Amino acid sequence: MNFRSLDIQVVDGSGVKVIQNGILVESVELCTIYDIDKEHFKYVYTTRFELSTALSTQDLRMKDPEEEERLCSECHTSMREGFCFESDGTKYCSVECLTKVIT
Ligand SMILES: [Zn+2]
Repeated sequence: MNFRSLDIQVVDGSGVKVIQNGILVESVELCTIYDIDKEHFKYVYTTRFELSTALSTQDLRMKDPEEEERLCSECHTSMREGFCFESDGTKYCSVECLTKVIT
């Protein structure tokens, strides 16, 4: 069988890790997340799209374990995009938060 696998975590809307050590396994007819700690396949679907749709309806999402928590340096809400400054490691979710700091 031809498949790809990827280390992954699953977190809920408030950032709690539902799966701490998981592996995303993806092949032609299968897309599933294996939970290493519990030793079972937690989510079994046929496509990645189906998997991520099912996760998002449960307010869950997949997360790269290497990905640092992206919290706004000003209001501390979790952010998916915004302004990041490599120089001092700060990041801001919106122009509003950014201008509070640089004025
Ligand atoms: Zn903010």
